[in-house]
Amino acid sequence: MIIKPRTKPLSLLKLEALLRRLPQTHPKRPKIEEDFAKRLAGYKGEQSLDFYLSLLPEQDIHIFHDLRLPYKNHHFQMDTLLVTSSFISILEAKHFKGTIIFDQAFSQMIRILDDKEEAYPDPIQQAKSHRNKLQGLLERFNIPPLPIIPLVVITNSYSLLKPSQSASKLPSMVIRSSLLPEKIEDIKLKHKEDILSKNEIKKLSKGLIKLNTPLDQDILEVYRLSEQDLLSGVHCPSCFALPIMKKRGKWVCPACATESQDAHIFSLYDYSLLIGSTITNQKARKFLNLASESTTKKLLRSLQSPYSGIKKGREYYLCFEKYMSNP
Ligand SMILES: [Zn+2]
Repeated sequence: MIIKPRTKPLSLLKLEALLRRLPQTHPKRPKIEEDFAKRLAGYKGEQSLDFYLSLLPEQDIHIFHDLRLPYKNHHFQMDTLLVTSSFISILEAKHFKGTIIFDQAFSQMIRILDDKEEAYPDPIQQAKSHRNKLQGLLERFNIPPLPIIPLVVITNSYSLLKPSQSASKLPSMVIRSSLLPEKIEDIKLKHKEDILSKNEIKKLSKGLIKLNTPLDQDILEVYRLSEQDLLSGVHCPSCFALPIMKKRGKWVCPACATESQDAHIFSLYDYSLLIGSTITNQKARKFLNLASESTTKKLLRSLQSPYSGIKKGREYYLCFEKYMSNP
Protein backbone atom coordinates (compact mmCIF):
# COMPACT_ATOMS: atom_id res chain seq x y z
CA MET A 1 0.00 0.00 0.00
CA ILE A 2 1.19 3.52 -0.75
CA ILE A 3 1.85 5.44 2.47
CA LYS A 4 3.48 8.46 0.85
CA PRO A 5 2.36 9.00 -2.75
CA ARG A 6 4.60 10.49 -5.41
CA THR A 7 3.86 14.12 -6.21
CA LYS A 8 5.60 16.41 -8.63
CA PRO A 9 8.74 17.60 -6.79
CA LEU A 10 8.86 21.23 -5.70
CA SER A 11 12.14 21.67 -7.62
CA LEU A 12 10.36 20.67 -10.84
CA LEU A 13 7.37 22.96 -10.13
CA LYS A 14 9.82 25.82 -9.55
CA LEU A 15 11.69 25.14 -12.81
CA GLU A 16 8.36 25.08 -14.70
CA ALA A 17 7.35 28.42 -13.18
CA LEU A 18 10.77 29.92 -13.94
CA LEU A 19 10.57 28.87 -17.60
CA ARG A 20 7.08 30.40 -17.84
CA ARG A 21 8.44 33.69 -16.52
CA LEU A 22 11.85 33.99 -18.15
CA PRO A 23 12.01 35.77 -21.55
CA GLN A 24 12.77 33.46 -24.50
CA THR A 25 15.97 35.40 -25.19
CA HIS A 26 17.30 35.33 -21.61
CA PRO A 27 20.95 34.13 -21.66
CA LYS A 28 20.40 31.71 -18.75
CA ARG A 29 17.42 30.02 -20.44
CA PRO A 30 19.35 27.22 -22.25
CA LYS A 31 20.99 26.01 -19.01
CA ILE A 32 17.65 26.14 -17.13
CA GLU A 33 15.90 24.30 -19.99
CA GLU A 34 18.59 21.62 -19.89
CA ASP A 35 18.25 21.21 -16.11
CA PHE A 36 14.46 21.06 -16.46
CA ALA A 37 14.66 18.35 -19.17
CA LYS A 38 16.97 16.23 -16.98
CA ARG A 39 14.80 16.66 -13.89
CA LEU A 40 11.63 15.88 -15.85
CA ALA A 41 13.14 12.72 -17.39
CA GLY A 42 14.14 11.59 -13.89
CA TYR A 43 10.63 12.20 -12.58
CA LYS A 44 9.04 10.37 -15.53
CA GLY A 45 11.42 7.48 -14.87
CA GLU A 46 10.34 7.36 -11.24
CA GLN A 47 6.69 7.51 -12.33
CA SER A 48 7.25 4.62 -14.73
CA LEU A 49 8.17 2.48 -11.70
CA ASP A 50 4.62 2.81 -10.40
CA PHE A 51 3.27 0.14 -12.73
CA TYR A 52 5.79 -2.44 -11.48
CA LEU A 53 5.24 -1.38 -7.88
CA SER A 54 1.51 -1.94 -8.38
CA LEU A 55 2.27 -5.61 -9.08
CA LEU A 56 3.69 -6.11 -5.57
CA PRO A 57 1.43 -7.67 -2.92
CA GLU A 58 -0.62 -4.74 -1.56
CA GLN A 59 -0.96 -5.63 2.10
CA ASP A 60 2.64 -6.67 2.84
CA ILE A 61 4.57 -3.74 1.41
CA HIS A 62 4.40 -0.15 2.56
CA ILE A 63 5.57 2.23 -0.15
CA PHE A 64 7.06 5.69 0.46
CA HIS A 65 7.97 7.90 -2.49
CA ASP A 66 10.46 10.72 -2.46
CA LEU A 67 11.55 10.80 1.17
CA ARG A 68 14.17 13.36 2.13
CA LEU A 69 15.41 12.64 5.63
CA PRO A 70 17.85 14.35 7.99
CA TYR A 71 21.13 12.66 8.77
CA LYS A 72 23.70 14.34 11.02
CA ASN A 73 24.02 17.86 9.57
CA HIS A 74 22.61 17.19 6.09
CA HIS A 75 19.76 15.37 4.33
CA PHE A 76 19.58 12.37 2.04
CA GLN A 77 16.85 11.69 -0.49
CA MET A 78 15.49 8.29 -1.51
CA ASP A 79 13.35 7.85 -4.63
CA THR A 80 11.28 4.99 -3.21
CA LEU A 81 11.38 3.06 0.05
CA LEU A 82 9.65 -0.28 0.59
CA VAL A 83 9.00 -1.31 4.19
CA THR A 84 7.89 -4.84 5.07
CA SER A 85 7.81 -6.74 8.35
CA SER A 86 11.03 -8.60 7.46
CA PHE A 87 13.13 -6.14 5.40
CA ILE A 88 13.38 -2.66 3.96
CA SER A 89 14.41 -1.94 0.39
CA ILE A 90 15.68 1.37 -1.00
CA LEU A 91 15.06 1.91 -4.72
CA GLU A 92 17.27 4.37 -6.58
CA ALA A 93 15.63 5.03 -9.94
CA LYS A 94 17.92 5.93 -12.86
CA HIS A 95 16.58 6.95 -16.22
CA PHE A 96 19.69 7.17 -18.41
CA LYS A 97 19.65 6.89 -22.19
CA GLY A 98 22.47 5.17 -24.08
CA THR A 99 25.03 2.60 -22.93
CA ILE A 100 25.64 2.48 -19.19
CA ILE A 101 28.77 0.91 -17.75
CA PHE A 102 29.01 0.20 -14.04
CA ASP A 103 32.63 0.67 -13.07
CA GLN A 104 32.78 -0.33 -9.44
CA ALA A 105 36.59 -0.38 -9.31
CA PHE A 106 36.56 3.39 -9.77
CA SER A 107 33.20 3.97 -8.10
CA GLN A 108 31.71 5.58 -11.16
CA MET A 109 29.07 5.05 -13.79
CA ILE A 110 29.96 5.80 -17.38
CA ARG A 111 27.31 6.75 -19.88
CA ILE A 112 28.02 6.64 -23.61
CA LEU A 113 25.58 8.51 -25.80
CA ASP A 114 26.15 9.76 -29.35
CA ASP A 115 29.87 8.86 -29.07
CA LYS A 116 30.17 11.05 -26.00
CA GLU A 117 31.45 9.47 -22.78
CA GLU A 118 30.40 10.99 -19.47
CA ALA A 119 31.14 9.91 -15.90
CA TYR A 120 28.47 10.05 -13.21
CA PRO A 121 28.61 9.26 -9.48
CA ASP A 122 28.16 5.52 -8.95
CA PRO A 123 24.47 4.91 -8.13
CA ILE A 124 25.43 1.66 -6.36
CA GLN A 125 27.67 3.58 -4.01
CA GLN A 126 24.92 6.17 -3.60
CA ALA A 127 22.31 3.51 -2.72
CA LYS A 128 24.71 1.85 -0.25
CA SER A 129 25.41 5.18 1.40
CA HIS A 130 21.64 5.75 1.74
CA ARG A 131 21.35 2.33 3.34
CA ASN A 132 24.00 3.22 5.94
CA LYS A 133 22.34 6.53 6.70
CA LEU A 134 18.90 4.95 6.99
CA GLN A 135 20.34 2.30 9.29
CA GLY A 136 21.73 5.04 11.51
CA LEU A 137 18.43 6.91 11.46
CA LEU A 138 16.36 3.82 12.33
CA GLU A 139 18.24 3.46 15.61
CA ARG A 140 16.23 6.46 16.78
CA PHE A 141 12.95 4.61 16.33
CA ASN A 142 13.50 2.02 19.00
CA ILE A 143 12.53 -0.87 16.73
CA PRO A 144 14.45 -4.12 16.18
CA PRO A 145 17.11 -3.82 13.43
CA LEU A 146 16.11 -5.32 10.09
CA PRO A 147 17.96 -5.87 6.82
CA ILE A 148 18.03 -2.91 4.43
CA ILE A 149 18.52 -3.89 0.78
CA PRO A 150 19.42 -1.13 -1.67
CA LEU A 151 18.56 -1.57 -5.36
CA VAL A 152 19.40 0.53 -8.41
CA VAL A 153 16.46 0.36 -10.80
CA ILE A 154 17.06 1.31 -14.41
CA THR A 155 13.78 2.76 -15.63
CA ASN A 156 14.76 3.39 -19.26
CA SER A 157 14.10 0.09 -21.01
CA TYR A 158 16.12 1.19 -24.07
CA SER A 159 19.40 1.76 -22.25
CA LEU A 160 22.12 -0.87 -22.72
CA LEU A 161 23.60 -2.02 -19.40
CA LYS A 162 27.15 -3.34 -19.23
CA PRO A 163 29.57 -4.39 -16.49
CA SER A 164 33.04 -2.84 -16.52
CA GLN A 165 35.83 -4.73 -18.31
CA SER A 166 37.18 -6.15 -15.05
CA ALA A 167 33.78 -7.61 -14.02
CA SER A 168 32.05 -10.50 -15.72
CA LYS A 169 28.49 -9.51 -14.87
CA LEU A 170 26.37 -6.64 -13.63
CA PRO A 171 26.23 -6.10 -9.88
CA SER A 172 23.21 -7.95 -8.46
CA MET A 173 21.93 -4.69 -7.00
CA VAL A 174 21.25 -3.33 -10.49
CA ILE A 175 17.97 -4.37 -12.11
CA ARG A 176 15.61 -3.17 -14.79
CA SER A 177 12.19 -2.02 -13.58
CA SER A 178 10.44 -4.95 -15.28
CA LEU A 179 12.37 -7.31 -12.97
CA LEU A 180 11.41 -5.46 -9.80
CA PRO A 181 8.48 -7.71 -8.72
CA GLU A 182 10.65 -10.82 -9.20
CA LYS A 183 13.56 -9.29 -7.30
CA ILE A 184 11.36 -8.29 -4.36
CA GLU A 185 9.92 -11.84 -4.31
CA ASP A 186 13.52 -13.21 -4.15
CA ILE A 187 14.39 -10.87 -1.29
CA LYS A 188 11.24 -11.94 0.54
CA LEU A 189 12.22 -15.60 0.22
CA LYS A 190 15.64 -14.82 1.67
CA HIS A 191 14.19 -12.79 4.54
CA LYS A 192 11.15 -14.71 5.71
CA GLU A 193 11.31 -14.00 9.40
CA ASP A 194 8.94 -11.28 10.65
CA ILE A 195 10.95 -8.73 12.61
CA LEU A 196 8.55 -5.79 12.85
CA SER A 197 5.05 -6.06 14.30
CA LYS A 198 2.18 -4.17 12.67
CA ASN A 199 2.45 -1.55 15.39
CA GLU A 200 6.16 -1.12 14.84
CA ILE A 201 5.59 -0.63 11.10
CA LYS A 202 2.98 2.00 11.95
CA LYS A 203 5.36 3.73 14.32
CA LEU A 204 8.13 3.68 11.72
CA SER A 205 5.78 5.01 8.98
CA LYS A 206 4.64 7.89 11.14
CA GLY A 207 8.21 8.74 12.10
CA LEU A 208 9.45 8.73 8.50
CA ILE A 209 6.62 11.01 7.35
CA LYS A 210 7.31 13.36 10.24
CA LEU A 211 11.03 13.56 9.43
CA ASN A 212 10.45 14.10 5.70
CA THR A 213 11.80 17.55 4.72
CA PRO A 214 11.27 18.39 1.03
CA LEU A 215 14.05 20.45 -0.52
CA ASP A 216 12.89 24.05 -0.84
CA GLN A 217 15.53 26.12 -2.61
CA ASP A 218 15.29 29.74 -3.64
CA ILE A 219 15.41 29.12 -7.38
CA LEU A 220 16.29 32.72 -8.28
CA GLU A 221 19.32 32.42 -6.02
CA VAL A 222 20.27 29.04 -7.53
CA TYR A 223 20.49 30.60 -11.00
CA ARG A 224 21.67 34.01 -9.76
CA LEU A 225 18.60 35.76 -11.11
CA SER A 226 16.59 38.64 -9.68
CA GLU A 227 12.90 39.56 -9.81
CA GLN A 228 13.78 42.01 -12.60
CA ASP A 229 14.66 39.06 -14.87
CA LEU A 230 11.07 37.76 -14.69
CA LEU A 231 8.19 38.63 -17.00
CA SER A 232 5.27 40.29 -15.23
CA GLY A 233 1.59 39.88 -16.03
CA VAL A 234 -1.06 37.19 -15.76
CA HIS A 235 -0.34 34.13 -17.91
CA CYS A 236 -2.84 32.00 -19.80
CA PRO A 237 -3.54 28.81 -17.82
CA SER A 238 -3.90 26.83 -21.09
CA CYS A 239 -1.10 27.98 -23.42
CA PHE A 240 0.99 30.03 -20.95
CA ALA A 241 0.93 33.11 -23.22
CA LEU A 242 1.84 36.20 -21.23
CA PRO A 243 0.36 38.70 -20.55
CA ILE A 244 -3.38 38.10 -20.96
CA MET A 245 -5.98 40.82 -20.46
CA LYS A 246 -9.12 41.19 -18.39
CA LYS A 247 -12.24 41.85 -20.48
CA ARG A 248 -15.68 42.17 -18.97
CA GLY A 249 -14.68 40.45 -15.75
CA LYS A 250 -12.89 37.55 -17.44
CA TRP A 251 -9.27 36.90 -18.37
CA VAL A 252 -9.06 36.38 -22.13
CA CYS A 253 -6.00 34.95 -23.88
CA PRO A 254 -5.21 36.72 -27.18
CA ALA A 255 -3.20 33.70 -28.37
CA CYS A 256 -5.61 30.79 -27.79
CA ALA A 257 -8.87 32.59 -26.84
CA THR A 258 -9.15 30.69 -23.54
CA GLU A 259 -11.42 32.52 -21.10
CA SER A 260 -10.77 32.18 -17.41
CA GLN A 261 -12.14 33.57 -14.16
CA ASP A 262 -9.15 32.66 -12.07
CA ALA A 263 -6.04 32.93 -14.28
CA HIS A 264 -4.53 35.32 -11.73
CA ILE A 265 -4.44 32.49 -9.20
CA PHE A 266 -2.04 30.53 -11.42
CA SER A 267 0.17 33.59 -11.74
CA LEU A 268 0.19 34.16 -7.99
CA TYR A 269 1.17 30.51 -7.72
CA ASP A 270 4.20 31.35 -9.90
CA TYR A 271 4.99 34.18 -7.49
CA SER A 272 4.87 31.80 -4.53
CA LEU A 273 7.21 29.34 -6.28
CA LEU A 274 9.68 31.95 -7.48
CA ILE A 275 9.65 34.79 -5.00
CA GLY A 276 7.97 34.07 -1.69
CA SER A 277 5.00 32.70 0.19
CA THR A 278 3.56 36.09 1.16
CA ILE A 279 2.64 39.07 -1.02
CA THR A 280 1.53 42.67 -0.52
CA ASN A 281 -0.91 44.58 -2.71
CA GLN A 282 1.95 46.61 -4.19
CA LYS A 283 4.05 43.54 -5.03
CA ALA A 284 1.03 41.75 -6.51
CA ARG A 285 0.24 44.77 -8.70
CA LYS A 286 3.79 44.78 -10.00
CA PHE A 287 3.96 41.02 -10.57
CA LEU A 288 0.51 40.72 -12.17
CA ASN A 289 0.96 44.01 -14.03
CA LEU A 290 -2.26 45.51 -12.70
CA ALA A 291 -2.91 49.23 -12.49
CA SER A 292 -5.65 49.32 -9.89
CA GLU A 293 -5.04 48.88 -6.18
CA SER A 294 -8.69 48.04 -5.52
CA THR A 295 -8.85 45.36 -8.26
CA THR A 296 -5.69 43.80 -6.85
CA LYS A 297 -7.21 43.87 -3.36
CA LYS A 298 -10.29 42.09 -4.67
CA LEU A 299 -8.16 39.43 -6.37
CA LEU A 300 -6.05 38.87 -3.27
CA ARG A 301 -9.12 38.70 -1.04
CA SER A 302 -10.74 36.17 -3.36
CA LEU A 303 -7.95 33.73 -2.44
CA GLN A 304 -9.51 33.59 1.05
CA SER A 305 -6.02 33.10 2.45
CA PRO A 306 -4.96 34.27 5.88
CA TYR A 307 -3.21 37.63 6.06
CA SER A 308 -1.35 39.72 8.58
CA GLY A 309 -0.73 43.43 8.98
CA ILE A 310 -2.94 46.36 8.04
CA LYS A 311 -3.33 48.84 5.19
CA LYS A 312 -0.35 49.00 2.82
CA GLY A 313 1.70 46.64 4.95
CA ARG A 314 -0.85 43.84 4.73
CA GLU A 315 0.73 40.56 3.66
CA TYR A 316 -1.40 37.80 2.17
CA TYR A 317 -0.26 34.21 2.58
CA LEU A 318 -0.09 32.38 -0.72
CA CYS A 319 -1.33 28.84 -0.24
CA PHE A 320 -2.60 26.94 -3.28
CA GLU A 321 -3.22 23.39 -2.16
CA LYS A 322 -6.96 23.76 -2.69
CA TYR A 323 -6.49 24.96 -6.30
CA MET A 324 -3.64 22.93 -7.70
CA SER A 325 -3.77 19.30 -8.66
CA ASN A 326 -0.33 17.79 -8.37
CA PRO A 327 0.10 14.89 -10.76
ZN1 LIG B 1 -3.74 30.90 -24.18
